[in-house]
Amino acid sequence: MTTQPLEMITEPGKCTGCGVCRNLCPHHAVRMETDAEGFLSPVIDTQLCAGCGLCRKRCPQNSPPELERAEVPAAYACWNLNDEQRRLSSSGGMFTLYAELILSRGGVVFGAGADAEQNVLFCAAHTSGEIARLRCSKYVQADTHEIYCRVKEVLDSGKEVLFTGTPCQVAGLYAFLNGDRPKLYTCDLVCHGVPSPLFYRKWLDSLKRKFGGPILSINMRAKELHAYSMAVEFQVGSPLRHLTFSWRGKGIEFLGWAFLSNLSLRKCCFTCPYVKTPRFGDVTLGDFWKLGKLGSEEGEKRKGISLNLINSEKGRFLLSDVQKRARLIERDFAEAAAGNLTLREHTPLNPKRDAFVRDTVAYDYETLLHKYRKDLLHLRWKRMKMRVKRLLRRFLRRR
Ligand SMILES: Cc1cc2nc3c(=O)[nH]c(=O)nc-3n(C[C@H](O)[C@H](O)[C@H](O)COP(=O)(O)OP(=O)(O)OC[C@H]3O[C@@H](n4cnc5c(N)ncnc54)[C@H](O)[C@@H]3O)c2cc1C
Repeated sequence: MTTQPLEMITEPGKCTGCGVCRNLCPHHAVRMETDAEGFLSPVIDTQLCAGCGLCRKRCPQNSPPELERAEVPAAYACWNLNDEQRRLSSSGGMFTLYAELILSRGGVVFGAGADAEQNVLFCAAHTSGEIARLRCSKYVQADTHEIYCRVKEVLDSGKEVLFTGTPCQVAGLYAFLNGDRPKLYTCDLVCHGVPSPLFYRKWLDSLKRKFGGPILSINMRAKELHAYSMAVEFQVGSPLRHLTFSWRGKGIEFLGWAFLSNLSLRKCCFTCPYVKTPRFGDVTLGDFWKLGKLGSEEGEKRKGISLNLINSEKGRFLLSDVQKRARLIERDFAEAAAGNLTLREHTPLNPKRDAFVRDTVAYDYETLLHKYRKDLLHLRWKRMKMRVKRLLRRFLRRR
């Protein structure tokens, strides 16, 4: 096969891997392949390419879709009143409410789930039971494969659709459809950036080697320890082996550290055009970090509080329809943006990022861990100092 470089579609470093080009190409000339940094990127087969330029014209990075969205959206601190659904969600569990609403109207819900090998990819939910697969944040870039074509089929059949994804994937859907559709509802995520699927894969393989067995499920925001803990269920033992890690604890801290210190993110995330407002989704879903005092409801913070931004009329409809099953507290948008960097500016580039993603391709997880051991130790030391300072300040205040 002769291939053309990605630059034929968009500038290097700008491609988000949203996969619109692959879904759009009428000649099936675009394939998504793992690139030199371990992320899925398009490759054009020159033997199949007819040179129509559709991929370049409709790429949302070249011509972003135009939609009616609020410059300053209404911001809500909110949570699902169903405790079990909230416990099983990453944040306040609002996604499940919107998903159930669309299903109750005969629609279909699309979002990111995992397959039996724990690869994260887009899938559809037609029933309440199937929502469980989509629930919870997977901190890795999801494969969109042919999902935009599937969404269009459902819309063309006259049914409603709820599509949830990162802002670039939501913008991608509107680019693919060439605008909005009356029966389409979307939620975009407040997004720190997407980590490398290859690095995630290597972490999974290392876990399997260490704990001796295939993995049945992963919850990257399990609420068993605190807001940042991870639960992994292995297909071994009776009862099945179930391990819970702190994001900062031994075993997974390297995966969490690489994500939060912006080492494992896709290149385009550092110049992401989808941070800030106006947003692309009808509703934006996030965590309400640094939420001010909640009076008698202060204790709710431990269970996870969502930030929902209402960006359009359809977003207002979704929120008003679920309000009986949620606690909604309107707050200032400025308060929401103050607690969430990626609503204000790009995620800052870590100077070691390029070297790290290259090493991700070259080495296995253990070798990587060894190579970056000093950075990890430095981080632990910094955290320890911060904790001591905090305790000291608290002690002095009490005295
Ligand atoms: C990579 C990533 C980075 C994020 N960064 C931030 C951040 O910086 N600040 C912030 O406030 N919130 C961030 N979030 C969003 C946050 O973690 C919660 O997903 C959000 O608050 C929704 O919570 P919920 O309880 O309403 O729903 P949940 O039940 O947790 O639903 C999660 C929804 O997210 C979708 N989803 C999960 N993983 C992916 C994925 N890999 N790609 C695309 N869609 C996915 C699912 O389809 C589902 O619809 C991020 C999420 C992801 C996936």
